[in-house]
Amino acid sequence: MASILIVEDEEKIARFVELELKHEGYQVGKAADGRTGLSMAESGAYDLMLLDVMLPELNGIELLRRLRRSSQMPVIMVTARDAVVDKVSGLDLGADDYITKPFAIEELLARIRVALKKSHGTAVQDNGNVLSCGEVCLDKARHEVTVSGHPVELTHREFSLLEYLLENKNIVMSRDNLLEKVCGYDYAGETNVIDVYVRYIRTKIDDVYGIKLISTVRGVGYVIKDEQ
Ligand code: CA
Repeated sequence: MASILIVEDEEKIARFVELELKHEGYQVGKAADGRTGLSMAESGAYDLMLLDVMLPELNGIELLRRLRRSSQMPVIMVTARDAVVDKVSGLDLGADDYITKPFAIEELLARIRVALKKSHGTAVQDNGNVLSCGEVCLDKARHEVTVSGHPVELTHREFSLLEYLLENKNIVMSRDNLLEKVCGYDYAGETNVIDVYVRYIRTKIDDVYGIKLISTVRGVGYVIKDEQ
């Protein structure tokens, strides 16, 4: 059974979630501040982290930012109600999902199952595969994108979007399809989010290197075409 790290400074919540997870058969570790949470996450002993945003010493957003330099472990952010900024920065920094306090334990358990399943699937696929189109290379195992050998900094979501388009080169992908792949099937936010991520990628790659990587197919979606 998977082991789950709970990073939460409210002892009552941490204890409650711990009991529920143990009841489901998970192994559980707990940290009550961000610094301890980061070092426990970096130990590699856990399969998934539940990460509260408001934490002493190191907040959840900063913890996640540091963790993502070295680890792609699944992270579910636990945010306060209406903390839209936290959700957006968490997802852009590579959180896999978020849940809003107060949450129903069943919903949390469902999200944990989805995140674990997704990360397991990714791990099986990623055998150091490198995807490319022209001078653009995407290394799945190293989570790196380069253009003519120059590294490009993409957020987690931009990277996923580019990865999926490269995997399906020359096939037009609809916005709905991309939304599901990049944001998850239960994504309930803005539907134009894919257009926004495409624009970010164009700013970081096309505008800088003078190439046309992702083509818009009007009324349908996007495609990356092999150079003729
Ligand atoms: Ca807190």
